[in-house]
Amino acid sequence: MTKLNFNFKTTYLNLSEKLFSKVLPSKVAAPKLLLWNDQLATELGIIKNEQGALAYLSGNQVVENSTPIAQAYAGHQFGHFNILGDGRAILLGEHITPQEKIVDVQLKGAGQTPYSRRGDGKATLYSMLREYLISEAMHHVGISSSRSLAVIATGEKLRRDTIQGGAVLTRVAASHIRVGTFEFARRALTIAEFKEFTSYAIERHYPELLGHENPPLAFFKKVMHVQISTVCNWLRVGFIHGVMNTDNTSISGETFDYGPCAFMNEYDPKTVFSSIDTQGRYAFGNQSRIILWNLARFAESLLPLFDSDETKALEKAQAAIDEFGKLYDEAYLKMMRKKLGWIGEEDDDVAIIQELLAWMQINNADYTNTFLYLESHLTKEEVSFDATVYQNGLDDILKNWKARCVQKVNSSADAIALMKENNPRIIPRNHLVEKALRTAEGGDFSFFNLFLKALQSPYDAAPLEFQLVPSDFDENYKTFCGT
Ligand code: AMP
Ligand code: MG
Repeated sequence: MTKLNFNFKTTYLNLSEKLFSKVLPSKVAAPKLLLWNDQLATELGIIKNEQGALAYLSGNQVVENSTPIAQAYAGHQFGHFNILGDGRAILLGEHITPQEKIVDVQLKGAGQTPYSRRGDGKATLYSMLREYLISEAMHHVGISSSRSLAVIATGEKLRRDTIQGGAVLTRVAASHIRVGTFEFARRALTIAEFKEFTSYAIERHYPELLGHENPPLAFFKKVMHVQISTVCNWLRVGFIHGVMNTDNTSISGETFDYGPCAFMNEYDPKTVFSSIDTQGRYAFGNQSRIILWNLARFAESLLPLFDSDETKALEKAQAAIDEFGKLYDEAYLKMMRKKLGWIGEEDDDVAIIQELLAWMQINNADYTNTFLYLESHLTKEEVSFDATVYQNGLDDILKNWKARCVQKVNSSADAIALMKENNPRIIPRNHLVEKALRTAEGGDFSFFNLFLKALQSPYDAAPLEFQLVPSDFDENYKTFCGT
């Protein structure tokens, strides 16, 4: 049998057994390789081999040096605490890349585990294609994200609202340790085991912190830092995660668990597409508040490690969390300045940003295209999309923005360069994502592949069809957790 040359070890197995269960992936009847990520495979040092992929990435066979496990975790889902765990995902192992990076290789949709509760442990083809497409788009737009190596259709029929085809996605991530893993570990482990687990996570993700005077506190601050950076990046491109439960918030800062996520077209901070998010808890403009909330749960879990004295531990946690506002505001402003082509800092920056956002919201302007429109005033290039909305009271803002662009520089070339690097020309627009998925589900991958290719170079000139936004599509658009 041809093999896939994974270089696996599973250091997670050395931790307390309460943190995982050994479990084999379920076998599937008719595996078919639908998607294979050549670029990622090269990064991982994996040689493409269809036979091997069909055998090992469908769950039908287990690579020799792999001891598959499902990981235990908990999580606050929409604010409510639950014990969870990998109910439809199985970790094959930690692969060591040619650059000596360690990454988790996980099969998503590989069958039941002890944490499946009432679920079948399977994943629908639609949702695995969706995860593949969006995770690739996120990576290529420059956002820290889990990756997708392959999608294999299983040939199975799954019972959901309707009968749907099944698939297994091979997910690659720095690790799958999440805030929810710490919430679980804190409750399930002895303090000695919890310390050991925390040291493991620090060593795996931020080994430089082990020499710090208080590694758990430095770890907390680091995770806060990387998560602020990730969320600001989401806001840069209009991404709405959709289900920012603590179990979907990674320690690495990678965006992961692409369920009901979607991209905002018309700017409105209240934008929500997830069918289950009826209160708008995870709306576009709430994501900074929610990441703070999730980080507070993380700090609570780590509390006894911050200081053996409970009062002092609380003070240290509070002081760290109190830094969030300032760090977040700085990161957001820095991101926005780049988006607007601004170099340096000026007193009026915040005011101009707020005026522009308010204008976009009142005029239902497209978030992505508005920045491209501004840029066109510097490049003097025509935009390909309909720009009539910009005739509507934007003049003063435009004038102030443009004056600000050249305030620190002699030419607008620097501003243009900055804008081109920070404003994607193409994002996964909802109507295009749906078209790609529906046609691919039916077996025709021509549009899916065309769209995927465009999303892999989102800062290059985009074909017109990818920039046009149907005015009424989003109104009734709903995304689903899609298990
Ligand atoms: P998610 O919404 O993907 O973050 O999943 C939340 C929880 O539900 C996790 O513990 C998953 O493992 C579990 N889960 C989701 N789908 C299934 C399924 N089809 N079978 C079993 N467990 C599932
Ligand atoms: Mg999840």
